[in-house]
Amino acid sequence: MITFKNIHKSFGANKVLQGINCTIPTGSVTVILGPSGSGKTTLLRSVNFLEKADQGEIILNDIHIDVAKASAAEIHKIRQHTAMVFQMYNLFKNKTALENIMEGLTVVRKLPKMEAKAQALQVLHKVGLADRADAYPHELSGGQQQRIGIARALALNPDVILFDEPTSALDPELVGEVLEVMKTVAREVNSTLVVVTHEINFAREVADNIIFMDKGVIVEQGPPAEILNNPKEERTKQFLSRYI
Ligand code: ADP
Repeated sequence: MITFKNIHKSFGANKVLQGINCTIPTGSVTVILGPSGSGKTTLLRSVNFLEKADQGEIILNDIHIDVAKASAAEIHKIRQHTAMVFQMYNLFKNKTALENIMEGLTVVRKLPKMEAKAQALQVLHKVGLADRADAYPHELSGGQQQRIGIARALALNPDVILFDEPTSALDPELVGEVLEVMKTVAREVNSTLVVVTHEINFAREVADNIIFMDKGVIVEQGPPAEILNNPKEERTKQFLSRYI
């Protein structure tokens, strides 16, 4: 379970998160929707302290952190339980697909190389790229690179996987293969998935829970049938009218 309690974050005078309160159940798929600039990515990145919120509490299972007082040890602990999939994949250019996946296992998880390799091959298989283990990022399409990004997160077997607009940097024809892999992950993996995306159809099909944000607050949240088909708030209706 991830709980946000009264999370605030400003960049200078820009109040990006203005009191976020919510709970994301263990093992669920939660999609965060909302207009550009509403604070979705900042909220996602605040979970693993890639962005440090100014105020509030973040609770991940038994780890309770008062963000204003977070120690390096607490941040390390929460990072041990999370993995992130980035918009721009962030793969090491001079490492193969397999080596990119092994990196976190050997460096962060301190696994012996042989064990890391076996696990990396397993997740490569899961994202349908076992035959590209030895390819370098520049030899792969954007969609394939993002599937490696997802495999790298999966390999860590984290409690929570944070997806930061995983398809928004891709050419439209490559989006489908990444969404397919994410659907497989949602079906087959026990991790809690939190996904910032504009892919409404993905949200409809896969999400257990949708959080709709605007201007740094959660406007409403609930199951897709409720939020997408029968939104209560005017801001949600307006946002959805652009997509549906
Ligand atoms: P969203 O993901 O909903 O598009 P973001 O969380 O990326 O929104 O951004 C919310 C606001 O915070 C935007 O106005 C953005 O310009 C600002 N912002 C995000 N990151 C930074 C940063 N590192 N420095 C300054 N401003 C930032």
